[in-house]
Amino acid sequence: MAAVPRRGVFHYDESLRLGIHTFTAGSLEKAALKAVELGANTFQIFSASPRMWRAGLPDSVQVKLLQQARERFDLHPLAIHVNYLINLASVDPVIRPKSIAAFRGELDRAAAIGAEYLVLHPGNYKGRTVDEGIAAFALGLKDAAEGFHAPGLTVLLENTAGSGASLGGRLEELRAIRDLAGELTGLPIGYCLDTCHLLAAGYNVATATGLGATVRHIEKTIGLEHVRLIHANDSKTPLGSHVDRHAHIGAGHIGIEGFRRILRHPKLRKKPFILETPIDKPGDDRRNLDALKLLATAATMEFSTSPEKRAKRLCPKSRTTTTKSN
Ligand SMILES: [Zn+2]
Ligand SMILES: [Zn+2]
Repeated sequence: MAAVPRRGVFHYDESLRLGIHTFTAGSLEKAALKAVELGANTFQIFSASPRMWRAGLPDSVQVKLLQQARERFDLHPLAIHVNYLINLASVDPVIRPKSIAAFRGELDRAAAIGAEYLVLHPGNYKGRTVDEGIAAFALGLKDAAEGFHAPGLTVLLENTAGSGASLGGRLEELRAIRDLAGELTGLPIGYCLDTCHLLAAGYNVATATGLGATVRHIEKTIGLEHVRLIHANDSKTPLGSHVDRHAHIGAGHIGIEGFRRILRHPKLRKKPFILETPIDKPGDDRRNLDALKLLATAATMEFSTSPEKRAKRLCPKSRTTTTKSN
């Protein structure tokens, strides 16, 4: 096993799960150790190249090293984000079978790796109706999961910015997909909510009243208990823009106060939060994770730092940039 990395600089309530997407670069163990080094206690990875249709199962030695690192450093849960090519809502005769086969590969790798969650977008129904897209997605999930069994793994449907014909901008669509897929497959299915996508789709999580209304809407449509993971990303584009561009925490349209309220909301604070923020310059990953920790637990920081220092930490220089959506 590699040398023990240093776990972040801030002490915070370890019952909170705050983490980041890290990259494997051919070594699952390295992705886990990177998360530890940055100070995370939960993380997300791709299990193979996100831009390739085919991939083999991960090396068993690597899987073992990853599992040891996760136990040793209490890294929980582990989420895998599926690749960008898969579109189970498509009925295109080329894209559809490739998507189903590739998603089966994602399921098999997630099970081999021992991940708790497999996050996927509901896809794009271009040329069809929303209902046809939902049906195509649920049937695709059924075909991909034929004969698959991994009790520890839950598939999470991620909300989207809802641009064009992409499914999942409205929470009602996610609910309809889960209901239908639940009837067709034995796969456990929950939700992953992305804060940037929520804002871009028109849910105003940036203000106190907007967040309250959004949480009530979540409770009414999809149920908070089924929201197993939150992607913590600020949004470069404004409320209802339907454009998905991740920004650094505090440097977008959700803002520092918006994230403070989200991270400390009594019904959200015990959910795992995982960053998918851009890395424009070295250290951005650590800075964004530190921002999450400070905002989640600033009550204790208030006793240990001067107001000047605190203000400086909580409002790092505005850095808004775009990144690939996850
Ligand atoms: Zn995503
Ligand atoms: Zn996301």
